[in-house]
Amino acid sequence: MTKSEQIIQAADSAYLSIYRRFPVVFDHGDGVYLYDVEGKKYLDFGAGIAVMGLGYGHKRYNEALKKQIDKLIHTSNLFYHEPGAEAAQKLRDASGLNHVFFTNSGTEAVEGALKLAKKHANQAGKNDYDIIAMKHSFHGRSLGALSVTGNDHYQEPFRPLIQNIKFADYNDLKSVEALVSDNTSAVIMETIQGEGGIYPATEEFLNGVRALCDKHNALLILDEIQCGMGRSGYMFAFQKYDIEPDILLCAKALGCGVPVGAFVCNDKAASMTYGDHGTTYGGNPLVCAAVSEVFDIFKEEKIVEHVKEVGEYLWNKLEELKSKYDCIVDHRGRGLIQGLEFSFEPKDLVRKCLDGGLVVIAAENKTVRFVPPLVINYGDVDEMVEMLVSLL
Ligand SMILES: *Cc1c(COP(=O)(O)O)cnc(C)c1O
Repeated sequence: MTKSEQIIQAADSAYLSIYRRFPVVFDHGDGVYLYDVEGKKYLDFGAGIAVMGLGYGHKRYNEALKKQIDKLIHTSNLFYHEPGAEAAQKLRDASGLNHVFFTNSGTEAVEGALKLAKKHANQAGKNDYDIIAMKHSFHGRSLGALSVTGNDHYQEPFRPLIQNIKFADYNDLKSVEALVSDNTSAVIMETIQGEGGIYPATEEFLNGVRALCDKHNALLILDEIQCGMGRSGYMFAFQKYDIEPDILLCAKALGCGVPVGAFVCNDKAASMTYGDHGTTYGGNPLVCAAVSEVFDIFKEEKIVEHVKEVGEYLWNKLEELKSKYDCIVDHRGRGLIQGLEFSFEPKDLVRKCLDGGLVVIAAENKTVRFVPPLVINYGDVDEMVEMLVSLL
């Protein structure tokens, strides 16, 4: 048996069988490359599902974490610490929203937002606490987050879920208008749908939803867990538009590898107060040192500007592919969150890419998703396109 086979067998004997994993055992990463335990090299256009914004082995980032590990990893939220104060200020300033709560994951950020919405509804005297979510959305797998995830397949085995959730069609303002009322406590949506197949919100839709929320005193929750943190070519994807959310959700590339998320809200949405919420690990010194360093690196290495440029390069390359190959029926996205929709279910293609040394991720609607580390360069794009073409 190869080393990979041994590890896979050991893992399968102990794990609960939830994930159908690819039979690849990664050992280490370097820049935009991953290496498996046999030493095979992979170009990574998945970034651990849009997490590894700075790629692998970023010196400055790693040093900051090592330093913090030796200093202090955890204190609980009974006390203050400097990395927390810094990370919260930087996230506040980057988002333009005043109040930050750090979580351990994206899902927990969603949960926090749902609690803010509920309390907002209670305070505003709304009866049904209706929440409007989108079809083909993804917000996580806990019971609350799953309740607003517009995917029957994920929801089916766990019904009944939270009541009073209504699903609208993404980018169809009329479908939101038909559901919204004075009892609506919040609308939750991704600024760019990720799992659903890489669909950016149209200007008309996002502005329209914002206006409906204002009209009915409902909170607008933007889930930027996947599309935020520079990935769209803006620090946060909503910053391309003229609106602001009441609550912004972050995770994935927020910590560039360590498990951290956040919900950030404005004064209007800050309904929770002392004792209403909590977490033991959330925002501990280690993850906050990572978040704080990530913001500094983004600024000094001009990551967002870089994403805009290299994202445009990727866009043009994928447009060329679309015009050349009949099997590519659509191309969507922005910055370094792009997708190609195929005429066939691209599962086998994703597997073939992996065998050929290229990591890409499937999304819904026959889409292959490209969410590489934000630090990729033009050469990496060329290399990826070459590999993909050889497999089409
Ligand atoms: C990944 C993701 C989540 C869930 O985040 P976890 O860290 O896996 O809990 C929620 N919303 C969106 C848009 C995501 O992409």
